[in-house]
Amino acid sequence: MHRRSLVATLVAAALVAGCTDKAESAPAPPAAPANAPVIDYAQWRAGTSAPVADPLYPRLGTSALDVLHYGLDLAWQPATRTLTGTATLRIRPVVDAAQIKLDFKPYRLDRVSVDGVAVPGAAVTAEKLVVPVAVRKDKPVTLVVAYHGAPSTTPMPSHRTDTEPLGLTVTRDGALWTMQEPYGAYTWYPANDQPSDEALYDIAVTVPKGWSAVAAGTPAGRRGNTFRYRSTDPVATYLQTLAVGRYRKLTATGPHGVPLTYWYRPGTDEKLVPSLRKSPRFLSFLEKRFGPYPFPTGGIVLVDSASGMETQQMITMGGKLTKPDPAGFEEDLLHEYAHQWFGDSVTPTTWNDLWLNEGWAMYAQFLYEQSVEKFSDEQLEQSLRTRDAELRAKLGPPAHPKAANFAESNVYICPAAMLKELNDALGDTKFFALATAWVQTQRNTQQTRASFTAFVNRQTGRDFTALINAWLDSPSTPH
Ligand SMILES: [Zn+2]
Repeated sequence: MHRRSLVATLVAAALVAGCTDKAESAPAPPAAPANAPVIDYAQWRAGTSAPVADPLYPRLGTSALDVLHYGLDLAWQPATRTLTGTATLRIRPVVDAAQIKLDFKPYRLDRVSVDGVAVPGAAVTAEKLVVPVAVRKDKPVTLVVAYHGAPSTTPMPSHRTDTEPLGLTVTRDGALWTMQEPYGAYTWYPANDQPSDEALYDIAVTVPKGWSAVAAGTPAGRRGNTFRYRSTDPVATYLQTLAVGRYRKLTATGPHGVPLTYWYRPGTDEKLVPSLRKSPRFLSFLEKRFGPYPFPTGGIVLVDSASGMETQQMITMGGKLTKPDPAGFEEDLLHEYAHQWFGDSVTPTTWNDLWLNEGWAMYAQFLYEQSVEKFSDEQLEQSLRTRDAELRAKLGPPAHPKAANFAESNVYICPAAMLKELNDALGDTKFFALATAWVQTQRNTQQTRASFTAFVNRQTGRDFTALINAWLDSPSTPH
C-alpha cells in the first residue's frame, strides 16, 4: 500500500534542525457421480501453500484448507447494482474436517456443489460460507458456489487518515473498484482471505456494452463484453483486484518486452496519463537494483479511491491521489511497482511481517526520490532517524503491529531506516546483490522475519541478527 513519504519536508526539517478446524468424527464424503470427470489437480500445483492462522486477524481465513485455484465467472449489472458469480475453487484440505469453511459476505447462494454433488445445507453465517461436507487431508475437492447480490464493504482496521472501507466498492455511477489489504476479497468471492494461502486464478467478468472489466493477472483476451485474466504465479487474496468502469485502454512495452496495460477514465484521469507512461522508466530503475521484474505482464488501473495498492500484475491507483502534484503520484506508483518484487513475488506469511513488504517498498521509494530530488545520503539518514524516533514513540516498534492500527507509518519508515543501515554497512554492491538474491531466488514463496534474518546472515557471511532485532523490536531508535 502506498505511504506518502514527505521526504522533501523531512529533509527540509532536518536542514533546519487461528483457529484450525479440527477433524471431527465426520461422515464420509458423498460419492462423486459415476460419470464424473477425472480432474488432474496437478495442473494447479503452483497454487499449493502451507496456510497458517493469521495471528493479527484470526477471524479471517483458515489453516484447514489450501485453495489451489480460484475460477471466477462474474457478471456486473451497473443498472441494478447486482453482482452475479460462479466461483469454482480447487481445494486441498490440509486436515480431515467435517466441513468446508471460507470467508464470504452474505450474497444469496443459488447453488453449491462439491465434486459435482449439490450441497443443499450450505449457508453463509457470520461472514463464513459453511459447506457441510466432510473432506480428507490431501484429497483435493472442487467446490462450486453460484451466487448473486449487492456488494458491500467491510471496515478497515486502521486510524490512517487516507483509509476507506475495504472490499468491493460501488461508485455513484455504477462502477466497481476494490482495495483489500489486509482482507476484503471475501466481499466479492468465497475466499481463504489471509496472506498465507496463495492461489492461481482464472477470472472472467462480463459487463454491459461500453464498459470494461480489469483484474489482476495476465490479460487473457476479450470475447464480446467478457474480459478474461489469468494468474499463473500464485496470488495472495489481498493482491487480487477488480475494477469495472467506462475505461479507455493504453498499451506499452516495459523493459525486455514486458507488456504493460494502463486503464484510465476519460474525462477524469487525462492529467495522470503522462505519469502512467513513465512505467517503463520506473521498472528499469527497480530492475537495476533488484533484478528482473518478476511477472509476465504489468499495468495500472485508475479507480475512484484516495489510496494506491500493489495488486499483482495490475496496480490499483486511486485517482484522488493526484492532489497535490504528479510527482507525489509518481513516487506512489514507483512504490507500488517495487511491491511487485517485495510483497507480491515474495510474500509475508502473516500480517505481523507487513514491515517486510513496506520497508523494502519505502526504501526503494526513498532511493527513487533521492535520484529525482538530489538530496544527500546524510539528509536521507537524518530525516529517517528523526521520523523513526517520532513513530516508535507514538506507535511502537515495527515488528509488533496492533490489529486496530493496520499499516501505520511505523511499519513503513522504521524498517526502511533499518535497510538504510544495512545498505551503509554493506555498501551498494553487496546490499543490492543481497536484495536481488532475496527476491530472485525466492520468487513465489512466502517468508518470515526468521527466514529474512537467516538469509541476510547466510548471504553476507556476517551476523546482522542484533542489528535486525534492534530495528524491529526497540522502543527507541537504535544507535
Ligand atoms: Zn506499500
